[in-house]
Amino acid sequence: MLLAPCAESATSYAEAELAGATLRIDFTRPIDPSRAAELSGWLRDVAASVADVSGRFPVPDVRVRIIESTRGDGTPISFGRVSRTDGLVVDLFVDPDRPVAEFYGDWEATHEFSHLLLPRIDVRQRWISEGFASYYQNVLMARAGHYEPLEAIDKLAQGFERGRASSPALSPNEAALAGLRRARYKIYWSGAAIALLADVELRQRSGDAESLDVVLDRFQRCCLPSGRRWSGRALFQQFDRLIEEPVFMPLYRRYADSPGFPDFEDALNNDIVEKKIFAVRTSTN
Ligand SMILES: [Zn+2]
Repeated sequence: MLLAPCAESATSYAEAELAGATLRIDFTRPIDPSRAAELSGWLRDVAASVADVSGRFPVPDVRVRIIESTRGDGTPISFGRVSRTDGLVVDLFVDPDRPVAEFYGDWEATHEFSHLLLPRIDVRQRWISEGFASYYQNVLMARAGHYEPLEAIDKLAQGFERGRASSPALSPNEAALAGLRRARYKIYWSGAAIALLADVELRQRSGDAESLDVVLDRFQRCCLPSGRRWSGRALFQQFDRLIEEPVFMPLYRRYADSPGFPDFEDALNNDIVEKKIFAVRTSTN
């Protein structure tokens, strides 16, 4: 239990530095400086796990707003979102008084920071932005040691089953237009399945020389930060230019306008997932 901070010692701003980027953290109500330092350390660690995908954080400067939530749903973070209208802003609606260990066990911030690996994407391909963030939220929580690899695989499997049961008559592109209320799980998990399929195919054919991490590293070098809004086709075509043989547009052509759900079982059962994709990172280079 925290003592109420006295006004002059409370803080509402902190910064956290990591490889090539600064997080500027606003607390919407002043909090005790030691508590601010604890939460800033957690945010830095989450951002560092995203930076580890390519060796540097995807964008040099991001603002994080820690907004006190009154929802009280039993989790430390009740909601998150990324806004790109006035610089990059990650909003996290939190219960700031919960133990910091609970924040480390929550995937929400990892999901929101993972959105920064991609540019703004056309709403008609929202399954790409939400899907890749949903994929990486599990990958990065496993690599950081917060999920056991088999637990992370199970979380993906459960997500894919929810996605398969959600609006099966709609394709991912149609689901994105139908909206979150009607087809949330189709949108989130069809895109995550396509991210998994691409990652496994890239690693398998290249003996791990290529991967989704490598593609995002190369994409970051060529194309981020980006002020434009990318169509799903333009993004996947660009990804394919960054690798030996196309992987992404073949997946787009097969699944983006097809009802049902991507065939994920073989990829999810591939040893690569546990041994490579979800393997705990022992360095942060
Ligand atoms: Zn999201």
